[in-house]
Amino acid sequence: MPNRWIRAWRGTLSKLGVLLLTALVIGLIAHKVWLCLFIATAGFLAVHLFALHQIGTHLNGPTVAAPARLPGIWRILQDRISARRRAARNDKRRLLAGLRAFRDAAAALPDAVVALDRERHILWFNRAARSLLGLDYPRDLGAPITHLVRATRVATWLDGGAGEPLIDVASPTNEQIRLSLRRIPYAEDQTLLVARDISQLQRLEQVRRDFVANVSHELRTPLTVVHGYLDMLEPEQWPDSEPILHELRTQSRRMTQIVEDLLTLSRLEVQDGLADERVQIAPMLETLKREAEALSQGRHQISIENNGSPAIQGSAKDLHSAFSNLVSNAVRYTPTDGRIGIRWESNDSGARLSVTDTGPGIPAQHLPRLTERFYRVSTSRSRETGGTGLGLSIVKHILQLHQARLEIQSELGVGSTFSCVFGPERLSASSIDEPVHEAGA
Ligand code: ADP
Repeated sequence: MPNRWIRAWRGTLSKLGVLLLTALVIGLIAHKVWLCLFIATAGFLAVHLFALHQIGTHLNGPTVAAPARLPGIWRILQDRISARRRAARNDKRRLLAGLRAFRDAAAALPDAVVALDRERHILWFNRAARSLLGLDYPRDLGAPITHLVRATRVATWLDGGAGEPLIDVASPTNEQIRLSLRRIPYAEDQTLLVARDISQLQRLEQVRRDFVANVSHELRTPLTVVHGYLDMLEPEQWPDSEPILHELRTQSRRMTQIVEDLLTLSRLEVQDGLADERVQIAPMLETLKREAEALSQGRHQISIENNGSPAIQGSAKDLHSAFSNLVSNAVRYTPTDGRIGIRWESNDSGARLSVTDTGPGIPAQHLPRLTERFYRVSTSRSRETGGTGLGLSIVKHILQLHQARLEIQSELGVGSTFSCVFGPERLSASSIDEPVHEAGA
């Protein structure tokens, strides 16, 4: 190309040279040098201006092919422009095809996808959004999503910042369809709202819950009977079978406890709300200490520390159950002469009840799984101490019902701290201002 360009320039300049020379010769012969030179220059300029005009007109038009019969350098220039335009047009076609394929794929997704602008107005939505969210094309384009998906729970969730997905929302088109909603921020101030049909999953989850609850209920009666008969058998009357009787009693007690814990979990799982009581902390701490001492039988040093709000809003029975599970674990897993501290503290950002022990500690890889049902670090230690493997799972559920969370810190050979962390909404403003009551150590 550069050679062609240079050749074209040379050609054009030599044509100009020949033209001017011819004009000069004719001018000398005719004694009109300036006139001849002027005519030659004007002719040359006219040809090139005409070529420029043709290129300009062509650029404004839709066709890419170059106009015919352009002089040297202009033809090369035109070829270059045409090549660039062709490449740009091909790029545009490719991009459009990609965009169309992307849109088709998004439209064919089984999940409802809705693109929202900063004010939560609908920019675009796919086919599934029509059936799952009841959106109508083109009527709902540009409409605010909150006018269409009216549930208050959804509106509040949409107003919140990027957070957790919203699970188990009834579809506006059919109450039976249960949805999980997820918000994905993209580009500048735009959001993708993705709704997935989880009806099938919810049904399976319901079947699982019912199954566990029913099995536990069914086991309760025969276990009570077995337990009752075992209690009637006096070991003194059966001296040879005493160890067997003892083991039978231990195991039947363990099974009863597992069934009770499973029933508690089933109840917590289906529970929607809570008793909203004002739970006094000082007496609760005293009760926990008494229970810990009874379980410890003097083997541990147990202390309480009350540095927080005197009360918390929630269910007294459930909170006690959660806290005493942590205290009982601390006593059960801490060797003789260990220390156990129960501490209550609060400030403007919330409150926390922590149970610290000087037990064996828990290896870090187990920590994320401790609240799973029947998950134990050491199965034998858990069984020896009468554990069911369900305690922390119950704690987690109770805390979830209080919009609280369980934090676990542990160091091998040093000990563990299990903390129930509550948000500020659980402490009424007046309770924070009240004078702190020390319950003793
Ligand atoms: P379990 O009835 O077996 O104690 P939990 O759900 O209460 O069941 O606890 C799960 C597991 O977490 C326990 O089996 C134990 O391995 C570990 N764990 C709980 N609390 C402590 C603790 N304070 N110190 C050491 N390990 C603990």
